[in-house]
Amino acid sequence: MLNKKSVDDINVKGKRVLVRCDFNVPLQDGKITDENRLVAALPTIQKLIKDGGKVILCSHLGKPKGEPKPELSLAPVAVRLTELLGQEVKFAKDETVVGPNAKAAVEAMKDGEVILLENTRYRAEETKNIDTFSQELASLADVFVNDAFGTAHRAHCSNVGVTKYVETSVVGYLMQKEIDFLGNAVNNPERPFVAILGGSKVSSKISVINNLLDKVDTLIIGGGMAYTFMKALGEEVGKSLLEEDYLDYAKEMMAKAEEKGVKLLIPIDTVVGKEFSNDTEFKTVGRGEIGPEWEGMDIGEKTRELYADAVKDAKTVVWNGPMGVFEFSNFAGGTNAVAKALAEIDGTTIIGGGDSAAAVNILGYGDKMTHISTGGGASLEFLEGKELPGVAAANDK
Ligand code: AMP
Repeated sequence: MLNKKSVDDINVKGKRVLVRCDFNVPLQDGKITDENRLVAALPTIQKLIKDGGKVILCSHLGKPKGEPKPELSLAPVAVRLTELLGQEVKFAKDETVVGPNAKAAVEAMKDGEVILLENTRYRAEETKNIDTFSQELASLADVFVNDAFGTAHRAHCSNVGVTKYVETSVVGYLMQKEIDFLGNAVNNPERPFVAILGGSKVSSKISVINNLLDKVDTLIIGGGMAYTFMKALGEEVGKSLLEEDYLDYAKEMMAKAEEKGVKLLIPIDTVVGKEFSNDTEFKTVGRGEIGPEWEGMDIGEKTRELYADAVKDAKTVVWNGPMGVFEFSNFAGGTNAVAKALAEIDGTTIIGGGDSAAAVNILGYGDKMTHISTGGGASLEFLEGKELPGVAAANDK
């Protein structure tokens, strides 16, 4: 079990505390369109303010590819954080992130004040974890707090490199929560334990499927990757997404499930469309009945019932990936049905970030879930059983 030092284990009074947050929020015309990630970061920031730290926030936003891009500046985040915290979050505007302006701003800080640095990915070194930028970041701080679960699966300067140059590195509350929920679910689940995997490709979820088959009682497959499993069983899948190279893998996984006594469910009916568009003609067909001109777009109505029934008595459910092309309203029914089924059960429900988290929030089921991960890629790697560099870099208790 991971046992990392957290913000509860340190004294930050009068110290400069660099906090790596995940402020990678969607922006439209300079406006933040979903502020969940900002709200999720507040408990750690508030704790550090209360304890009298000098709180220096940093994050990446989008992919500026190592150079300043004004449309990806964190300036709007500073404005919104000021409102959310009810105290000024000064924006240390600096194209080099740790330039004269940022240094002067840190120098002038009083205990309990907060500043936000510019987008860390303005610097080309950031994603390559090159020491020079890590050292610059560390020069601003006495203590480092990592609260950015969304990037924990990457070793970058601002979440991993920097820990080499500060004495103390701990995790924040958000990171701690992610480690606790995902860690407990995977390593110590209350049973029955059901995992639901969807999304487009088998190839991107190979290790997850393999790892989860060692842990779960039931594994439910939906989304584009289901067709590779159907094809592996000798069924025709028409124009549906298919990864020919993974047919053997799908067979192996089905054999592994059988050997381990894991129930592996794949769709018993499918909503198929003529074209890949929302307005296309569509219908529901049974198992093995996808015609050559048709493309699987969503799980069918019977499958929705089957999957809802399979999670009904579960004590732990982990879900990652949509059941169909949920971006098109005509093909969002399967994803919605799974979200609804999870909202109605008593067991622990953990949503593994990305599309499934978005679907749950859009449908208004957010507060019905036990935990919605803030990191799609990171939660996936957690489910793969991998060590996340951003977590590993924090000091052990
Ligand atoms: P991933 O990034 O692998 O989690 O996949 C998410 C994407 O899978 C979403 O954009 C969905 O539209 C897509 N997806 C889900 N089901 C299907 C399907 N049946 N055919 C094509 N794409 C799908």
